[in-house]
Amino acid sequence: AMNDHDPNCIFCKIIAGQIPSRKVYEDDELLAFHDIAPWAPVHFLMVPKRHIASMAQLTEADQALMGRMMVLAPRLALEQGCRPYPEGGFRIVVNTGAEGGQEVHHLHLHVMGGPRPWLKG
Ligand code: 5GP
Ligand code: ZN
Repeated sequence: AMNDHDPNCIFCKIIAGQIPSRKVYEDDELLAFHDIAPWAPVHFLMVPKRHIASMAQLTEADQALMGRMMVLAPRLALEQGCRPYPEGGFRIVVNTGAEGGQEVHHLHLHVMGGPRPWLKG
């Protein structure tokens, strides 16, 4: 619905196709795309298509949506080149609010992985 879309939100513009992105996955309620400034060899973002500003706005009605994102992330991480658990793996980060380091105020999971020589092990 149109009121699920925030015209000033950069991720809503990506979801609407108004800003290009390198797509990783899409279905009716989720989109995943590569981060434009990766911090790791694999670094993509997963967003709900509906504009939710942050995790602080989640309600019980969003439990299934968030569950789908968490279950989908490992599959997409492998597809994007993360090696399997336990030698490989990935990290999920959800920055929330100013003090949580959130810069884009449309809920997103960072999924990061791949060989990172600066991490021990
Ligand atoms: P935050 O600090 O809000 O958790 O992270 C926002 C992320 O979005 C950053 O890692 C940043 O590189 C990414 N980003 C910001 N603008 C764009 C864009 O236009 N396209 C893509 N693909 N990523 C973006
Ligand atoms: Zn948005």
